[in-house]
Amino acid sequence: MRTIGIIGGGQLGRMLAMAAARLNFRTVILEPQPDCPAAQVANSQIVANYDDEAALAKLAEACDLITYEFENVPVAAAERLARALPVYPPPKALEVSQDRVTEKQFLNGCGIETARFHAIDDQEQLEQALADFSGIGVLKTRRLGYDGKGQRLFHHKTDDAAGAYMALGNVPLILESFIAFEREISIIAARGTDGAIACFDPAENIHRNGILHTSTVPASVGETTTAAARAAAATILEALGYVGVIGVEFFVLADGTPIVNEIAPRVHNSGHWTEAACVVSQFEQHIRAVTGLALSDGARHSDCVMQNLIGDDIEDVPAWLAKPNALVHLYGKSEARPGRKMGHVTWLI
Ligand code: AMP
Repeated sequence: MRTIGIIGGGQLGRMLAMAAARLNFRTVILEPQPDCPAAQVANSQIVANYDDEAALAKLAEACDLITYEFENVPVAAAERLARALPVYPPPKALEVSQDRVTEKQFLNGCGIETARFHAIDDQEQLEQALADFSGIGVLKTRRLGYDGKGQRLFHHKTDDAAGAYMALGNVPLILESFIAFEREISIIAARGTDGAIACFDPAENIHRNGILHTSTVPASVGETTTAAARAAAATILEALGYVGVIGVEFFVLADGTPIVNEIAPRVHNSGHWTEAACVVSQFEQHIRAVTGLALSDGARHSDCVMQNLIGDDIEDVPAWLAKPNALVHLYGKSEARPGRKMGHVTWLI
């Protein structure tokens, strides 16, 4: 029986470990937090930091291949492992997605449209960049931003930019042009070791307080938009020589044009609906891809809505369980802090 090492111990690792077990694979989790959500359902955990050299050697020894559940895995750690055993998705996917400037340069280099952008290293550059975008734009940290953290929106030409560079922590930033999108969608796509590509249907995503609230499938977009989004996902997968599942987030303009916002080289929150509405979920699809098994075609048997259960939403679980057609999935987190993803529910419509 083969063993898959998973770097990162959150809910995505948990759902990957469960999917792996169903296909007779063992899993080892590398995660500093003991009894993390993934380790609760995996075969074992190495409790150590992601860049701990002894722990990485132990992980390589214990496993036949390595994958990961978050994009901020240290690239050096992934590269070190890749010298000993297969690491999927390839470490290059981490390098590209960890920095919003590198990511946009990569996407534009593949002919994929994104927001226009300027790299910002000080207040003066910020003011010049804002002038270039007529004072309207979205300022973000280049690295380590998630769920809308480390961001500031400039709505009006008159918004005061004074002190804005330092306010985001005196770190490298990006100013993106503001995209007046009509909706946000995402595509969850997969590429196998043989180069086969399969996409799930696009989900339409609503965010609240910068965190994904719901994903609805089908998204209210036309076939041309869907085809363009799928084509962009396929281009990204090919360009990275990718193996595994990727999440690609898009802004959709009023004319239906999809513009890539960001890519996540892993299973993605906006793909959780697949466990209820597809024969094969994104988690199983990822395990199939990285182990060289045949991919599912991503076919969907039902329409559905996935909603995240965040913080106190966990108290609604009994009510969700009482509803017909609702599938509840909880993450094994003991403390329900505000903004913390505790689980999700998908209901078929
Ligand atoms: P992100 O962390 O890049 O996913 O951004 C979080 C949310 O902020 C997105 O889902 C959008 O709703 C909004 N947003 C981010 N970038 C832009 C942009 N360039 N133009 C308009 N809205 C944006």
